[in-house]
Amino acid sequence: MSWLSEALAALDESGLRRHLRHRSERAGRRFDGLVNFSSNDYLGLAGDPRIADAAADAATRWGAGAGASRLVTGGTSLHRELERALSDWKGSEDAVVFSSGYLANTGTIAALVGPEDAVFSDELNHASIVDGCRLSRAVVRVFAHRDLSMLGRQLAATPARRRLIVTDGVFSMDGDAADLPALAALAHSYDAMLMVDDAHGCGVVGPGGRGTAAAQDDAAVDVTVGTLSKAFGSAGGYVTGSAELCEWLRNRARGFVFDTALPPPAAGAALEALRISEVEPSRRETAIRHARTLARGLGTAAPAACVVPLIVGDAARAVAASAALAEAGLHVVAIRPPSVPPGTARLRFATTAAHEPADIELAIAAAGDILAPTR
Ligand SMILES: *Cc1c(COP(=O)(O)O)cnc(C)c1O
Repeated sequence: MSWLSEALAALDESGLRRHLRHRSERAGRRFDGLVNFSSNDYLGLAGDPRIADAAADAATRWGAGAGASRLVTGGTSLHRELERALSDWKGSEDAVVFSSGYLANTGTIAALVGPEDAVFSDELNHASIVDGCRLSRAVVRVFAHRDLSMLGRQLAATPARRRLIVTDGVFSMDGDAADLPALAALAHSYDAMLMVDDAHGCGVVGPGGRGTAAAQDDAAVDVTVGTLSKAFGSAGGYVTGSAELCEWLRNRARGFVFDTALPPPAAGAALEALRISEVEPSRRETAIRHARTLARGLGTAAPAACVVPLIVGDAARAVAASAALAEAGLHVVAIRPPSVPPGTARLRFATTAAHEPADIELAIAAAGDILAPTR
């Protein structure tokens, strides 16, 4: 294993070595003396005492772990209640809960397409989509970011038994949204399925926080993946869609079949977070208002949800800017390859309902001071 020291040194040299940070307290608006701009806890619910109580109640009633996969003995009526609540909220026929959004993506894509099929994927899709495409062993066609004419040409030129178009709803590192009505129209013309990973849109955008498709005239999406780990402050992933789709996934999605069921405390917490998100709409309104103010102040594109990237380019420069922001009292992570394409390293700000207007002003001023001279 002597290659490891050389490989790690190479990461250092290219500014790509990552270091874990071990915070010493609950991450809310602030932690360890810094205002936190690197959390996906968009509604500010991860540290909410009501959610913690719901998790504790579920642990007391059902135990800390599920003990087995859903198909064996791990499934509880709590898991089913969570699925019912998710499908009621989304207005879908049914829902399937996975242990993470990552597993929901890999499991679902590989269950929908196989070696005789083709999958069409936006180049900026999340890594879990990329991995799902690879696992499926379908032909993978990557189209340029939001380039619908390129996708149309690929659809026309790729024969396959089944076709699947897959896209992030809100892109995790760019903060823009897919054009879902246009994608749905293409899917319809080419007899393709449309799958949307709405990890950054669900709970945040659209009427009732129902997500990116709801925000875009209820675009016709066949398969929606969401996560319980971001806006809903817990952990887990889910798929919503038709009853038949969900039945197929319960039978054929390997990330569902061969994975221990979501721990009951996470399910209880997610159920409570969903309830709170429905009765406290001001949480998503505040988070989005902060994102818009921040983007305006930074001079970047209007964000679709709460993700506001500031592209710096060079990875080492992004790391230096992140360190300088920490000096100014802000925690803003530098995002580098392979999370983003080479040469597009960036500071990724995420706003939440927990931020206060003064936090946003501080971020705008600090980023201006640190990046203005060379930008
Ligand atoms: C975070 C994220 C996931 C993975 O969700 P987890 O529940 O954290 O595993 C999937 N897709 C996108 C776009 C994400 O940002």
